[in-house]
Amino acid sequence: MENEDNTMSEMKYCQGPNCHTYRTKDRIRGPKGAKTYQTRRRSSFYYLGGNACSMNCQDDWFRKFGEQALNHFGRLTEPKRTECDNAWYKFRDWRVGSWSTALQGGGPRTLFH
Ligand SMILES: [Zn+2]
Repeated sequence: MENEDNTMSEMKYCQGPNCHTYRTKDRIRGPKGAKTYQTRRRSSFYYLGGNACSMNCQDDWFRKFGEQALNHFGRLTEPKRTECDNAWYKFRDWRVGSWSTALQGGGPRTLFH
């Protein structure tokens, strides 16, 4: 598998900043005598929205970049709000096992059929 750089172009690297430090056999790459642990590369990943090879790498990424990402893309500085009065909510009525719509806030909270 020494020549995989040219043949597997759809492969992408795990974005975990410490991926290469997890010493598993499948991370060992390179010619004899110069083998190194390397960042995992696959065509698809299950973590971090398809960008990290493991829960560990996802956590590593978040620890390193999560804070920066929040600041970069816009952090909530006040609570989000949605109106209660006059707002219609769908909820599951366990008594009849079907979806019901009820007026919350201003209207009666209990539904009897
Ligand atoms: Zn990884």
